[in-house]
Amino acid sequence: MKVIELKNIKKTYHLEKLDVPVLHGITLTIEHGEFVAIMGHSGSGKSTLLNILGLLDKPSSGSFKLAGIEVSKYCDNELAALRNRYLGFIFQQFNLLSKLTALENVHLPVIYSSSKKENASEDPAKLLKLVGLSERMTHRPSEMSGGQQQRVAIARSLINKPLIIFADEPTGNLDTKSTKEIIDILKNLNASGITIVMVTHEPELTAYATRTVQMQDGVIISDVKTAPAQNIKKQNTDENFKHKAFSLSRFKDYFLQAQRSLIGNKMRSALSILGVMIGVASLISMLAVGTGAQKAIEDQVAGLGSNLLTISPGASQRGGISSESGARLRLIPEDIADLKKNVREISKISGYASGRAQIVANGKNYNTRLDGVSLDYAELRTSQAASGRFFTEEENIQRQRVVLLGKTVVKQLWDDANFNPIGEFVKINRIDFQVIGVLPEKGSSGWRDEDDKIIMPLNTAMYRVIGTKYINSMDVQIKEDADMSEAADKITQRLLFTHRMPAKNTDAVRVRNMAEIQETMSQMAKAFSLLLGSIAFISLLVGGIGIMNIMFVSVSERTKEIGLRKAIGANNADILFQFIIESIFVCCAGGIIGIICGSLISIIISKIAGWTTSVTLSSVFLAFGFSAITGLLFGVWPARKASLLNPIEALRHD
Ligand code: ADP
Ligand code: MG
Repeated sequence: MKVIELKNIKKTYHLEKLDVPVLHGITLTIEHGEFVAIMGHSGSGKSTLLNILGLLDKPSSGSFKLAGIEVSKYCDNELAALRNRYLGFIFQQFNLLSKLTALENVHLPVIYSSSKKENASEDPAKLLKLVGLSERMTHRPSEMSGGQQQRVAIARSLINKPLIIFADEPTGNLDTKSTKEIIDILKNLNASGITIVMVTHEPELTAYATRTVQMQDGVIISDVKTAPAQNIKKQNTDENFKHKAFSLSRFKDYFLQAQRSLIGNKMRSALSILGVMIGVASLISMLAVGTGAQKAIEDQVAGLGSNLLTISPGASQRGGISSESGARLRLIPEDIADLKKNVREISKISGYASGRAQIVANGKNYNTRLDGVSLDYAELRTSQAASGRFFTEEENIQRQRVVLLGKTVVKQLWDDANFNPIGEFVKINRIDFQVIGVLPEKGSSGWRDEDDKIIMPLNTAMYRVIGTKYINSMDVQIKEDADMSEAADKITQRLLFTHRMPAKNTDAVRVRNMAEIQETMSQMAKAFSLLLGSIAFISLLVGGIGIMNIMFVSVSERTKEIGLRKAIGANNADILFQFIIESIFVCCAGGIIGIICGSLISIIISKIAGWTTSVTLSSVFLAFGFSAITGLLFGVWPARKASLLNPIEALRHD
């Protein structure tokens, strides 16, 4: 039975400028059970022929039937499957994977096998025993002699029960003793029914073959049968051979391979993980700071209530031309009572006179914010005294020197936030004040410490401390059922009227709606998060490009490995997936570490800067998703490069 039928096979290599014809019409038939030795001078085309026979390379023209299947028209993936199913290879350089043990090396072709049949492959341990390596199963190639390595390679070639074994100078790198051992093994394999085609330049080895083919300059010059071929009954060919492009079950192996290669290249893996880690950590912490700030702003603004208006003096001039009155509308304390009396939509109103104050107590000196406020402030801003009491209207009218302190101020002056300062005398801008209460704790709101302030009656602040006749602004709370914009108009008109300004001069009063302020603030916060997020995104991008670089290095370093994997039956998709998964693996590892680091960083930021930060579940998922996608995107290109490598060129690479 014919296992190989070559008809007029020609092969021409196309170099850049010239064509190199190597095989000039080879016609050759090999029967089952033969042991063919191909001899010839160096450069006569032996390897080229063997590579074509082994489906590693395609002929330029001619017909090639392998076990009755015309293979010259097969595509790369079909050839890979055929190699895996029917062919075994033994190379001069052994081509074992250095990161794998002997057992794993022998098992490697099974990964790429799509045969579902039972007994489709041999037991790797049994094969290693067969080649006399039962003691060396878990050794790596570097711990073995050349002869032992070649025996592992033979065991690997046998794993899928091949029809034919191709050996290109299998003893070329071995000493005489190992040569003898290897050739004996091959002889025994032939005796057990495997067809063997061996290239050699050692004439004494032809004694083991049943047939010797001599080549010279790309043609066969002699073909001698020296012994009868093994008599082989029916062989286990799959007449209706069909290759499966892809199977899910291989994914487990892809993962295993990726994991191996990562562990095998610790330094490189660590560096690429570091790149992604930095990107993800910054993404997480930036988002945490951003969302934290946003939340703080929203909380703070929401606490103000949406039925609040803030009134402040507007611009009195428009476009550089003086309005009729010429003067700015300046708010005075009388406006407060007047508005409350005349605009019935108002439920509460507080004026503000603000400034900085130097406060001295307990031998300490501290600078803080001072707010002179009206009585309604306590309810408007939910600032009833946490301990002690709020001031009274009488104290305001009489400009009494009473003050309420924020927690931070208490802590700064007495070194103890829980100190009870009520009844103490303090100096504020050199004036004696008595502390009557402590303000409720509000916490920090993103950037500002809300407890770092003191408040006192509006009149006291204006006339005794700041020294002004005017108030800065007013907060007005509108009754539940009243219309906000209507109330705003009424307030404006009333102020213009009492200040004797023309009714059309509405620009003189600035009325801001808290809902609007809320909206603007959260818009700002969103923009801020977006900005931070995009900075982080860029660093992730840089990390991804780092991954891509390292993957390219990895591909070119492992070209030979890729060649070998293809030779034993890996198809393009197998190699593509192996490298993509490796890249995703690195990125996800970096992602997980980055998420942990990023969370830690945001905790540290919130501790040091006093900012509220919050790591949300969605940002964790986002970061993880991004790192996986980074791995995928930046891994595809190098992986594709790897998958498209020509097996024979890849094998020749060093
Ligand atoms: P052998 O194995 O008999 O020593 P080869 O089959 O390796 O010879 O090579 C035969 C000829 O083909 C040599 O002249 C070699 O230079 C040429 N050759 C082999 N591979 C290539 C290639 N990829 N590109 C161009 N020329 C090649
Ligand atoms: Mg050669």
